[in-house]
Amino acid sequence: MRLLVTGGCGFIGSNFIRYILEHYDPEFVTNVDALTYAGNIANVAGLAAQYGERYEFFHADIANADLMDELMRKHHFYAVVNFAAESHVDRSINSPQHFIHTNVVGTSVLLDAARRHGVRRFVQISTDEVYGSLGPEGRFTEESPVTPSSPYSASKAGADQLALAFHKTYGEEVVVTRCSNNYGPYQFPEKLIPLMVINALQDRPLPVYGDGLNVRDWIYVDDHCAAIVAVLLNGKPGEVYNVGADTEMNNLDLVHRILAHLGKPKELIEFVEDRRGHDRRYAIDSSKIRTELGWKPLHRMEEALPATIDWYVANREWWEKLVP
Ligand code: NAD
Repeated sequence: MRLLVTGGCGFIGSNFIRYILEHYDPEFVTNVDALTYAGNIANVAGLAAQYGERYEFFHADIANADLMDELMRKHHFYAVVNFAAESHVDRSINSPQHFIHTNVVGTSVLLDAARRHGVRRFVQISTDEVYGSLGPEGRFTEESPVTPSSPYSASKAGADQLALAFHKTYGEEVVVTRCSNNYGPYQFPEKLIPLMVINALQDRPLPVYGDGLNVRDWIYVDDHCAAIVAVLLNGKPGEVYNVGADTEMNNLDLVHRILAHLGKPKELIEFVEDRRGHDRRYAIDSSKIRTELGWKPLHRMEEALPATIDWYVANREWWEKLVP
């Protein structure tokens, strides 16, 4: 299987490339990444040496139609797995145009090139944030209305709709995954868990939005990677699959766990003005992928969160280059 993975120098993309090369036997994986502020070549260090010709890196913008066309013409990929995105909600509030460029235009360029060059499968990596916010009850199913709150989630929702329309219009074998919040190694330190760990390690204040009671549904990144492989191999074209590990937690509880693990005082927490349009709660019903594709999460937060914190403790040289 020849795979094109986009955004493979980011958090989930780099974990996915390592995961699929380690657990499966793709003929080769081509990683296309524009190396934005969030893309880090150190995230894939050692892969070329370890896997030789089975791994290659191509520095490019997915919205560059000529380059994507040439790449797909030359390589005869079996599948595209599209992780490339602007992914940070706060940045989307300040500069939404970058999000339209990559998340919407970039995805449409890939869908079009894949269609014209006979790529068999297209996996669009999306997010539960396209569903908007929940009250205290209920969970998102694949039938929940798509009502995004931020420019980030709106751009991801737009990409999802384009991808599903390419299936309806051209019969392209597109599958969309919508996953909850990921944690694990190599996550850029603007996101909640690495930000809190790194600030705590430096005895800096830990900024918590609003009252800290916003709830997220957490999943370890390798479980997300396994779900993507299941969808890549056996997902039904034109379908959406929610991915989640039934691990709801509010931000304050999560920050308390991080501080306790690191032996740091709660006084480091600093409540800051809430994010505009901040979704209150996300919770994912992932029964469809569990029953139809036999996937289930293998990692529990009780073990995987301390292991993740320990990774940032042990890999100081990785994050020191990224924080001001
Ligand atoms: P990330 O920000 O860590 O990585 C994004 C990668 O995309 C970076 O390497 C960046 O350089 C690359 N990129 C950005 N613009 C590009 C362009 N125009 N052309 C080529 N490459 C480009 O993001 P992440 O957290 O790894 O998320 C990956 C995907 O998973 C995103 O599509 C995101 O919406 C989705 N997702 C993330 C989460 C999460 O919790 N992080 C949850 C659900 C879904």
